[in-house]
Amino acid sequence: MDPNPNIHRQYRSFVTHLECSLTGERYEADRVHGLSRAGRPLLVRYDLEAMRGAVPRIAIQGRPTDMWRWRELLPVRDPKHIVSLGEIETPLVPIPRSGGTHVLVKDEGRLPTGSFKARGLVMAVSMARALGITRIAMPTNGNAGAALAAYASRCGIETIIFCPDDTPEINVREIAMQGARVWRVNGLIDDCGAIVGEGARQGRWFDFSTLKEPYRIEGKKTMGLELAAQLGWELPDAIFYPTGGGTGLIGMWKAFAELEALGWIGSKRPKMFAVQAAGCAPMVRAFEDGVEHAERWENAHTVAAGIRVPRAVGDFLILRAVRESGGRALAVEDNAILKAVDDTAKRDGLLMCPEGGATLAAYRNALAQGLVSEDDRIILFNCSTGLKYPMPEAPLWLDRTQPIDFDAL
Ligand SMILES: *Cc1c(COP(=O)(O)O)cnc(C)c1O
Repeated sequence: MDPNPNIHRQYRSFVTHLECSLTGERYEADRVHGLSRAGRPLLVRYDLEAMRGAVPRIAIQGRPTDMWRWRELLPVRDPKHIVSLGEIETPLVPIPRSGGTHVLVKDEGRLPTGSFKARGLVMAVSMARALGITRIAMPTNGNAGAALAAYASRCGIETIIFCPDDTPEINVREIAMQGARVWRVNGLIDDCGAIVGEGARQGRWFDFSTLKEPYRIEGKKTMGLELAAQLGWELPDAIFYPTGGGTGLIGMWKAFAELEALGWIGSKRPKMFAVQAAGCAPMVRAFEDGVEHAERWENAHTVAAGIRVPRAVGDFLILRAVRESGGRALAVEDNAILKAVDDTAKRDGLLMCPEGGATLAAYRNALAQGLVSEDDRIILFNCSTGLKYPMPEAPLWLDRTQPIDFDAL
């Protein structure tokens, strides 16, 4: 039986090679790679010229809308390696009452494992499987570990996951439940990353840290591809993206370049707003200082666990995309994040995660500062279902054996 019935029989990737994001040095495709020799992320390259001649835009439009409709622009060569859990196209949900008339939330909480980490990890795990990797370790703030655990367990790859010991309880448990060995560590995500790096140097496992393997970014870039298709091949005016390691922002920026090279979109680009929490804003500081690399943010803290990333190996790629786009890196306070989550839930019925709330809070600030206008078409990213996060108590209780005061209900 075909394990992935949604994937058409005619399957072809136009992948040609990989390239160091800093030096442009070339690396062979279809090999196991970590970082480049310069210690930077590797980017996957495709023969866009050949694809331009072979695959018209309309061919994509005729396919099912899941992630695999973008197969030519993805690194998996043989669909038998795809470890799918049903990666659907996520909807654009208007939030007119809490956001504004032209504000749409791309709701990534609908993906397998409840977050957009599924996009990156389905690709990275499928490639690991294709390349014969059997043991993977990863540092995580929660959602990436959950997605890795799910996809890896599904194809028999062993996983060891390290998270800060104050990672939301539900994330730690979902990781364990989906078959990984998950360790709580008394440190932040980069401290966990150091353990993963040391184990990899000892040859114990393959290092799946953000951007330290080349394929997660290819999965994440499908957010940009999808956006283009959903908006009739005209990109929005601005995108607000909650930025930790920045995979999604870098991936979307790469996707837009690929789409333009194919002639599927024009040269218009959205302003990219990298949103961080005021308690952990290394990209905002680097952006404002006008530098290419961000220093580690000390004593990082925020309610938005997914963007509590003190240091990012792809810092220069995030900053370049933001600057080239005419956007900004913006920091928002935790109270504004929680207020935004509350407003969207109560007024528009959409329960976002705190990181999603951060994008609405940042949009509100950007609007007040005149960085965007009310007539602009805006995309906010809600990266995870709000159901994974602590919610305020709901303490009302009724004793049905006593007389009920219906006026008070
Ligand atoms: C991982 C994560 C982010 C940050 O995504 P990056 O692409 O790594 O910057 C934001 N929000 C949530 C909920 C996440 O899990």
